Amino acid sequence: MEDQLKQEIASRRTFAIISHPDAGKTTMTEKLLFFGGAIRDAGTVKGKKSGKFATSDWMEIEKQRGISVTSSVLQFDFDGKRVNILDTPGHEDFSEDTYRTLMAVDSAVMMVDSAKGIEPQTIKLFKVCRMRGIPIFTFINKLDRQGREPLELMEELEEVLGIESYAMNWPIGMGKEFMGIYDRHNRRVELARTEGEGRYLEVGEEGDLATPHPIQDSSYFQQALEDVMLLDEAGNDFDEERVRRGELTPVFFGSALTNFGVQTFLETYLQFAPAPQPRNTADGGSVSPYDEEFTGFIFKIQANMNPAHRDRIAFVRIVSGEFDRGMQVTVPRIPKTFKVSQSTQFLADDRETVNIAVAGDIIGLYDTGNYQIGDTITGGKGNFAFEPLPQFTPELFVKVSPKNVMKSKHFHKGILQLVQEGAIQYYKTLYTEEVILGAVGQLQFEVFEHRMKNEYNSEVVIQHIGQKVARWIENEGDVKESMTGPRAMLVKDRYDKLVFLFENDFALRWFQDKHQDIRLFSLL
Ligand code: GDP
Repeated sequence: MEDQLKQEIASRRTFAIISHPDAGKTTMTEKLLFFGGAIRDAGTVKGKKSGKFATSDWMEIEKQRGISVTSSVLQFDFDGKRVNILDTPGHEDFSEDTYRTLMAVDSAVMMVDSAKGIEPQTIKLFKVCRMRGIPIFTFINKLDRQGREPLELMEELEEVLGIESYAMNWPIGMGKEFMGIYDRHNRRVELARTEGEGRYLEVGEEGDLATPHPIQDSSYFQQALEDVMLLDEAGNDFDEERVRRGELTPVFFGSALTNFGVQTFLETYLQFAPAPQPRNTADGGSVSPYDEEFTGFIFKIQANMNPAHRDRIAFVRIVSGEFDRGMQVTVPRIPKTFKVSQSTQFLADDRETVNIAVAGDIIGLYDTGNYQIGDTITGGKGNFAFEPLPQFTPELFVKVSPKNVMKSKHFHKGILQLVQEGAIQYYKTLYTEEVILGAVGQLQFEVFEHRMKNEYNSEVVIQHIGQKVARWIENEGDVKESMTGPRAMLVKDRYDKLVFLFENDFALRWFQDKHQDIRLFSLL
């Protein structure tokens, strides 16, 4: 591979921001884009109708609800690096797309609200990152407001998530008394209310300021010094290797809204965040980003970018090599070769879209129905596949049927497509073969209903059967009809595997107690 291409690849930093709604993901994204020069003023990323970011606002339902339904990709340059941020739906009703997006990144930034601590959605997303062993960088946000004690937050992080942490900086006061941060990593104090020259104070040998400054007399500063000493003595050491393995999370305190600590965070993050990583293949091998041949995999399919067309966009994470517009790509699963004349990259600004993309980048390919989520694509002739994307255990279920039985053909066609696309999970009852759909978030059902009507001309009747605990079965042969009941419904998934849908955790435990020979398991 040419040196220039190698350098291009090595400059990529591809990540997602994970957080619970309202922790400040959107605000952070705006500030990062601002530093990257991708936006001139910290405008809004969430697509207001006329805004630049309306590209992520293509679905009617997004407009109706004023939220971003599916992940989009933002790209900017900073410090010689090309940064790709994969946005994850931040609404309570997040979906499997959110999880799958995490399959396409090399690291993650976890936003935590300093007043709320670790929240449920953060835990779920964190687990997926952890499973992949990717580095996680934590930003504890909203220091300009009164929040919880920093030490308490660090403790909660370690306890609830089971990851070790290292504070890269430490707040000096908070809320109205927020004076700045003690930056352990860069050995300086950054003052909150001072611009320009006086903003950074150097830290001396003893951990105190190198030259005297009035802030030293403040009790908040003294408290911060004490805390930092405690961390130096009793806390974890910073260990770059452990950060890379996802075992240790560097923690930054700051305020995205007032833009405090964001730039230092970005600089430090880019210093330690990994460049594009190799990917495993289904046969146990692995593909290096620096392999000559272009390869990638599809982690998301987005329908109806343009409501006037039926086209879909398949989002590809490039694993190796370089992608050029107009190249031939093969999908070994089908197997079929396509000439890709229309591709699209999602940039945050109006600059001309670059015609090449390299390992680490995300591209969108126009799709007329050929691609599936999880597909491997390659510029070569090789017949290989990347490790399959994990399937996630849905938590919500509905029964669904066509409103007009005469139109059941449309109904089944629509379901088949949407299931293949990964928009929703398909199950059916054993004898009556009623259709049951499973999802990770309620929103998936709404999107389903909307798209069935608009794209497949099929109105559906949805009957909520609520939250269920789904468990697959290792020894299916031992399952008996008598084990099922209203609290333990037995259904089949799209691959005809048996699945129990338990009413709740209690019903699951009761079942396990009673039928100890049945070995149950969940997906991710
Ligand atoms: P998201 O749902 O995670 O994308 O969160 P948003 O970025 O939309 O932020 C949720 C709310 O918190 C908004 O009202 C923001 O203005 C506010 N917010 C975000 N960051 C900060 C911060 O650093 N300080 C304060 N006080 N508010 C913030």
